[in-house]
Amino acid sequence: MKLTHKLTLAFLLVSLTAVGLAAIVVWATTSLEFNKYLVDQRQEQFVAAASEYYRSNGRWEGVDSALRQQGLLPPIQQPGQTPPDPQPFALVDQDRKVIIPSGPYQSGEKIQTGVLAKGIKIEFDGLVVGTLLITGQTPVRSVIETRYLNSVNQSLLVAALGGALIALLLGLFLARSLAQPLRDLTAATHAMAQGNLKQQVPVRSADEVGELASAFNQMSADLARANQSRKQMTADIAHDLRNPLTVIGGYLESLRDGILKPTPQRFDTLYTEVRHLQRLVEDLRLLSLADAGELVLQRQPVNPMDLLEHATAAYQHQAQQQGLQLEVQAEGLLSEISLDPERMEQVLGNLISNALRYTQAGGTIRLAASQAAGQVMLSVQDDGSGIAPEILPHIFERSYRGDVSRQGSESGLGLAIARSIVELHGGRIGVESTPGAGSRFWIRLPLH
Ligand code: ADP
Repeated sequence: MKLTHKLTLAFLLVSLTAVGLAAIVVWATTSLEFNKYLVDQRQEQFVAAASEYYRSNGRWEGVDSALRQQGLLPPIQQPGQTPPDPQPFALVDQDRKVIIPSGPYQSGEKIQTGVLAKGIKIEFDGLVVGTLLITGQTPVRSVIETRYLNSVNQSLLVAALGGALIALLLGLFLARSLAQPLRDLTAATHAMAQGNLKQQVPVRSADEVGELASAFNQMSADLARANQSRKQMTADIAHDLRNPLTVIGGYLESLRDGILKPTPQRFDTLYTEVRHLQRLVEDLRLLSLADAGELVLQRQPVNPMDLLEHATAAYQHQAQQQGLQLEVQAEGLLSEISLDPERMEQVLGNLISNALRYTQAGGTIRLAASQAAGQVMLSVQDDGSGIAPEILPHIFERSYRGDVSRQGSESGLGLAIARSIVELHGGRIGVESTPGAGSRFWIRLPLH
C-alpha cells in the first residue's frame, strides 16, 4: 500500500472516529434534553389544567373527561382499536386515592405518603388538594415534535457526513504533500543508483524532511564532485605517466637502433624521466596509504626552526639559479614539537617548490615559525603570481591544476599530500593569497 494511501486512511480513520463520537454524543444529548423538555412541558400543562379544574369545580370528579377533552389524556380505548399511548402521569386526590391511573398506580389505589412526597403538589387556598406522580420518562411525541427531532437528527447526519468528506479531502491533500518529498527522494536515489550522481531535490519545508532533502542534495553534489575529480585524476595520472614513458621509450629505441649515441646527457634525460615516474608513483602510494588510514608517522621531538632550515637547504641551489631569495625567520621563542620530520619536510618541500615555480626572478620566499595558544604556526610566503580567488578553494583537492595548460612535471597532488600529512599530525593547512602580490601558505600544528 502506498504511503499516500496509508496516510489518507489514517487521517480518515482519526477524523471519522472524532466526527462519529461527536455526532453520537450530540444525538444522545439532544434526544435526552428534548424528552426532558417535553415531560416538563406536559407536566406543566397537566398541573395547570388540573388546578384550573379543581378551582372551578371544587372537587375532582369528572377531571379525567375534562382533561381528555383538552387532549391531555389519551382517548378511551374503543373495542378492536389499538390501545392508545398511556400518559406518563397519575393524579392522586387529597385522600391519597388514585383518580387518574398511570403505570403501576391503579384507579382507587391508596398511595403511601412516602411515594406522594416525590410528586408535584397541586394546591388550592393554601391546601394540598392533589398530587401528580410521574410514571414515565419517554413522553409520546406529537407529529410536529417527532418531525422536529427527526430534522435535528438529519442535520446532524449531514454535518457528520460533510465533516467526514472534508476530512477525506484534507487528508488526501495533506498525505500527498507529506509524501511528495519522499517520492522526490526515492526518484533521485534511483537515478543515482543508475549512475546519474548529480541529483537535486526541492527543499519544500524547514522541518526534518526538509533537512533530509538538503542533506541529500549536499551528499549528491559531493559525490558528483568526488566522482568528477576521480575521473579527472585518473586522466591526469594516465597523461603524466604517458609523457615520461614516451620519452624513455623513444630514447631507448633510438639508442638500441644506433640512431642516437649513448652520451651522459642522454642518460641524464632518461634518469630525470625515471625519477619523475618514481616521484609520481610514490605520491600516489602516499595518498592511498593516507586514504586507507595506514600512513604511520614516525614522530620525534623536533625544533621547528631546524625543520625549516632543513627543508630550505634542499632548495637553496635552485632558488639561487632562479635569482630568488629563500629565507627562514623565527618569531619569538619556540618549543620543540612532536612530529614526523621526514613527512613534514615533504610538506614544506611541496610548498617551497610551488613558491619557486610561481615567483619571478628577484622575488623572495620566506619561511617563518611562530608559537601561540598551544600551537606552532609554520608559513611559506612568496611574492609571486598569487592565486585567483575562483581557484583558491580548490587547490588542496587532488590533481587539481590551477594552470590547466601547464604540461609540467608536477602531478597536481602536492597540496593534497600536504593536507593529508598535516591533518594526520592533527593540524590544519590553509592559504591566503592576493593575485599579483603573492601567496602565504600556513600550517598550524598542536603542541600536544
Ligand atoms: P601542482 O602539481 O599543480 O603544483 P599542487 O597541489 O602543488 O599541484 O598545487 C595546486 C595548484 O595550486 C597549482 O596548480 C597552482 O595553480 C596553485 N598554487 C600552489 N602553490 C602556489 C603558489 N605558491 N603560488 C601560486 N599558485 C600556487
